[in-house]
This record gives sequence, structure tokens and C-alpha cells, in this order.
Amino acid sequence: MREYAISLDAKKMPDAWYNVLPDMPSTPTPVLHPATQQPVGPEDLAAIFPMGLIEQEMTTAPTISIPGEVMDRYLMYRPTPLRRAYRLEEALKTPAKIYYKNESVTPSGSHKINTAIAQAYYNLQEGVHSLSTETGAGQWGTALSIACSMYEMACKVYMVRVSFEQKPYRKSFMEAYGASVIASPSDTTEIGRRMQKENPGTTGSLGMAISEAVEVAVTSGGKIKYSLGSVLNHVCLHQTIIGEEAKLQLDSVGEYPDVVIGCVGGGSNFAGIAFPFVQDKLKKNLKTRLVGVEPAACPTLTRGPYVYDYGDTGKMTPLMKQYTLGHNFVPPGIHAGGLRYHGVARTVAQLVHEGVIEAISLYQNPCFKASLIFAKCEGILPAPESSHAICAAMDEAVRCRESGEKKTILFNLSGHGHFDLTAYDAYLRGDLQDYDLDEEILEKGRASIPDVKEPA
Ligand SMILES: *Cc1c(COP(=O)(O)O)cnc(C)c1O
Repeated sequence: MREYAISLDAKKMPDAWYNVLPDMPSTPTPVLHPATQQPVGPEDLAAIFPMGLIEQEMTTAPTISIPGEVMDRYLMYRPTPLRRAYRLEEALKTPAKIYYKNESVTPSGSHKINTAIAQAYYNLQEGVHSLSTETGAGQWGTALSIACSMYEMACKVYMVRVSFEQKPYRKSFMEAYGASVIASPSDTTEIGRRMQKENPGTTGSLGMAISEAVEVAVTSGGKIKYSLGSVLNHVCLHQTIIGEEAKLQLDSVGEYPDVVIGCVGGGSNFAGIAFPFVQDKLKKNLKTRLVGVEPAACPTLTRGPYVYDYGDTGKMTPLMKQYTLGHNFVPPGIHAGGLRYHGVARTVAQLVHEGVIEAISLYQNPCFKASLIFAKCEGILPAPESSHAICAAMDEAVRCRESGEKKTILFNLSGHGHFDLTAYDAYLRGDLQDYDLDEEILEKGRASIPDVKEPA
């Protein structure tokens, strides 16, 4: 009998998150204050984050134990299944073995709830009962709405306007859990009004929505804290439960991956699946390939410079060294909304810079094509974001068919696409465009990158 789903006994679930910081081949790049350009301390971040998360942002402890209360919520849906894609292997006639971690089975339909629960918990621990945030495709807003409802906290979500219009049911989903949802840029913040004036008719961007949500926290007198769904160390940290479980599950069937693949927006689901393998790769000198996949329409890792930049359009966030298209860059309105971010997690960036992680970019049409082949074989309709990982995994499997290599491929299925049917509709009608960004557009974005003197 074929073992399609490789489960993991809940009692064997990892009880600590893995921290990549102490395993980085070189010292992690410091985070700088947006005004002084000096390294930030915990007190600089206290206006927007609770201390528990600030500590996790900076700690170099090798692991952080998962609080019992968070573990208890995880157990509602974790461990998630690791699946062997036998039918996809057959469809591709590949000798490769394809495994995927199925994060689409969570209450929010994506990996994002893994950090949403933890973030809501640490805020509540410090007496915070209200969170503000941004959302691109709506996945993060949904995850935080559910997490906030678990702890009876208020949740205010700034949703990038293009997604707000493309995905009305995302808004309903968030509202069902008690969140309030506002299209960004909006008239409810100073910065939102300014950005609308400067960019009339703008589709919005994650960078703009972040600025609005941060402003709400900063001006709340400590009542509202801000919550980010990707990019930061503590977010990537919380997502490592994905890779830790996958490692145990693969081990239980005597496997170890040759290639680990994830799509990259801000970098958190990729970090989640890949970071636990970074440790092995560096310490045991393994040849495991760790591949981040981004859309060609937002080619941060593959075409951006490795420099300091802001995380948001309004320049309210700290400066972080990363690959960036410039904080003013507004990517084309592709349907993988969660991948439309100008920058990336600084740990992922540094590991790409040091050659530990590879990055590639793909067009959206081949990703949707791959996604539908996957759906027919596996019975799961993937999120457009996840389709980038699927397409890269299938390309790898096809290369194995040509070379005869029996590689073991692992990818992260970051979410399902049940709220992305407008996107599938557009694909099936042949209405999706593949964007090749010309140098002129990229140059315009790069012009917004600040001139930062790196600390010696
Ligand atoms: C948000 C999202 C992503 C991209 O964000 P990362 O932080 O890079 O993981 C990818 N897939 C899905 C389904 C998402 O919701």
C-alpha cells in the first residue's frame, strides 16, 4: 500500500522553534534606526511590538521553546501532513520523489497562522488587547483575525486595495472572526492620505499598507501594537515548525531531501521549510539545495541590490540590509498578492548573499499551469503564491527525468487557493499577463533606496 500522507504523532511534535541566527556563517547584519541610522535597541521597537517578540527578534539562542498555550492551539491542526506526490511523479514520468508539506490544512488555509497565534499570545501576555496589521492577498489578515478571535483581541487590517477589490470574500472571512478591514491606502491615516495624493488611483502595495498599520500603533499611546506577517526574525522563527516537522516526517520514511523549495514573498514560509535544513547543510557540509522562488514581476532576490532599505513606503520601519527593489516600488498587479513585496527577510537575504540559499524567478502563467496539473493529481487547489514553489519543484522533477537522477524533492505548499478563484478564472480565460520588468521600471524603484552608511 502506498503511503501518501506521512503523519507525525502529535506527541513527537517539536516543542521548540529553530533559530537560524547563531548558525549564520557570518555575523547577522544589524538593524538600523530609520532616523539616526544607528543600530536599534529593544526600546526603539517597544512602541510597536511587545517585549516578548522583541527579544525573539534579537536573541541568538539556538532554540526557543513553544509556550504550552501556543502549542495547544497548534495541536488543533498540527502536525500538518507531509505528502508524497505519487500521482504528480507519474504524470511527470520522473524518477524523482516529490514530497510536500501541506500547510493548506490550517484554520486560515496557509502557514501564516503559525506566527499569528504566537504573536497574539505574546501581545496578550503583556496586556495588549488590540492589534493592527496589513495584508496583501488577505492570507495574513485572515490568520491574524482568527488568532485574535482565539484570545478575544481586536484586530484592524489594512488590505492592499488591488486585493481588496479582487477578493471580496477575504474581507468577509476576516469580518466573520471580528476583524475590521480597510482598503489601503485609506483616508483613516495621515500617511494613507498622503500616499493617495502622491499616487492618485494607486493599486496600493504592501509597503503602503504597512505604513498605515504602523501609524495606527505608534499613535495609539501603547493601546494598539502592530503585527507583521513576514520578514522579521521572530516571524521566520515561528514558521520553522514547518521544516522541523518535515524533517522528522522524512526521517520516519528514511529520506533526506536533495532540494528544498519554497516561494518567497517576505521570506517566512521559505524560511520555515528551509532554515532547519540550513543548520545541517552548514554543520554537516551537505550539498542540499535550498531554493527560494519569486515572481518575475517582483524579482527582489534575483534582480534587486543587496543594500539597506526601509520595510515600508512611508519609511517608518527600521532599515534592514536586504535585497530590495526600493521601498517605493509598486509591483504589477499579479495574482500572487502575497509575493508582491519590495524587500525580503534579512536572514534569507544574507544566506542568499553567502550562497547558502539560491533564488530563482518564474512567470505567473507557467506557475498557474503547474498549479492545475498539481491540483488534478493531488486534489488540492493551491494558492497562486504556492504555485511558484510547485512549478519550481516540477521543473526540477522534469530535469531529473532527463538526467535519470532519483532526487528527493521537498517543497512547501504554503496555502490553498479557495479565495483566489478570480485568479484562476483569469488564467483559464487567457487573461493573465507575464511581466518582464524593464530596467527603467527597476531603476525608478532603486532610486528610492536610501544612502545608508553601514556600521563598521
Ligand atoms: C503570504 C503568503 C506567502 C508569502 O509570504 P512569505 O512570508 O514569503 O511566506 C506565500 N504563500 C502564501 C499562501 C501566503 O499566504
